[in-house]
Amino acid sequence: MSLTSRANAVIPGGVNSPVRAFKSVGGNPLHAVSAEGAILKTADGRELIDFCLSFGPLMLGHAHPDIVSAVQTVAAKGTSFAVTTEAEIEIAELIADAVETVEKVRLVNSGTEAVMTAVRLARGITGRSKVLKFSGCYHGHLDSLLVSAGSGVAGIASASSAGVTPASAAQTVVAPYNDFDAVTALVDEFGDELALIACEPIAANMGLVPPDPKFLLHLREQADRCGALLLFDEVITGFRVTFGGWQNLCCAKPDLTCLGKIIGGGLPIGAVGGPAALMDRLAPEGDVYQAGTLSGNPVSVAAGLANLRRLKADNPYPALAAETERFAAAVKGFAAAKGIDLQVPTEASLFSMFFNPEAPRNFDDVKASKPKPFVKLFHALLERGVYLAPSPFECGFLSTAHTPEVVDKSLEAFEAAFASL
Ligand code: PMP
Repeated sequence: MSLTSRANAVIPGGVNSPVRAFKSVGGNPLHAVSAEGAILKTADGRELIDFCLSFGPLMLGHAHPDIVSAVQTVAAKGTSFAVTTEAEIEIAELIADAVETVEKVRLVNSGTEAVMTAVRLARGITGRSKVLKFSGCYHGHLDSLLVSAGSGVAGIASASSAGVTPASAAQTVVAPYNDFDAVTALVDEFGDELALIACEPIAANMGLVPPDPKFLLHLREQADRCGALLLFDEVITGFRVTFGGWQNLCCAKPDLTCLGKIIGGGLPIGAVGGPAALMDRLAPEGDVYQAGTLSGNPVSVAAGLANLRRLKADNPYPALAAETERFAAAVKGFAAAKGIDLQVPTEASLFSMFFNPEAPRNFDDVKASKPKPFVKLFHALLERGVYLAPSPFECGFLSTAHTPEVVDKSLEAFEAAFASL
């Protein structure tokens, strides 16, 4: 029996997270056996240049020696203590030092958990219930933010999931990304009920949609006007766009920050951070309860520390951004040669592709771009040894293992793939 059949028999949809199932692109999902650097090896013997990269944690590529060695060393000494270790203190110090508005950090096990904690904290602090989010932004699968969400639920109408109660969805108000007036109007209407304005500071779950230059400042002003907290969900952008968060690079500053992915170097982790005065409202200091058996797990923390230390020492960010731009320009060129309208926005080592004459500014624009050419391109690339995330709504990532030679090899595949469309 094939792995797909065996998986489908015992795992819903054959996958442990929906977007892996190839529903947006058709065909059978991949089965990985191992990976190294930029290359993902599959059970049917393929070696693919990986631009999905586990959806973002792997800044140094797969199986980086620093991370493998840190995990092996630490795991041999015990995989969970539920007692604070020096490494947990050290990773919190590193994060607090690097991320501009963060003084204290609570580690959790996923990005979803981090956002869930931030929402509860904001509700506890403000004594209010409602959350303002943006259509096409994804913040994990917690009820209150699974409304008009991006990523694996992009394209699914309104409440984004069965099982999200109407009462829960009613606590969420949604604005289009980059729409200044819509935010102002919602704050006019719901301001005294709003606990939190939650945003991805660069939207990266509806493809890549950067904020207008003053949009995040507008959110800061509107949050201050109504007394809500402002959350930057930097689960994707944290330590990807710079050593720190997008907040280090822009004028607007959040109250709360969520992190995940890169701070765990490919192991499960998440974090919520902010000024001490806000973070100390969490239990046991404060009255907002949050807990986790495996939070601050020594293996995840060791992997995350190894990742962050290497990134801090090497500062690969400028070179990676330049390589990503070179890659995007070449891909755009291949499309242009075929007369295809393609946008390839980039930000640091993030990119996405929209078959659209103009770069989208919000989720409606994203939905107006053509899905079919992406599906064809995805499969044409897969046949030629290149793996993009299996959905036009997911971003692609470059890592330090995507050397110019690897990128050139992938570009040969892109050129041939576009020629075949
Ligand atoms: N926030 C953002 C911005 C994300 O992109 C994601 C996941 N891609 C999450 C939260 C949820 O993180 P996790 O999948 O670790 O729960």
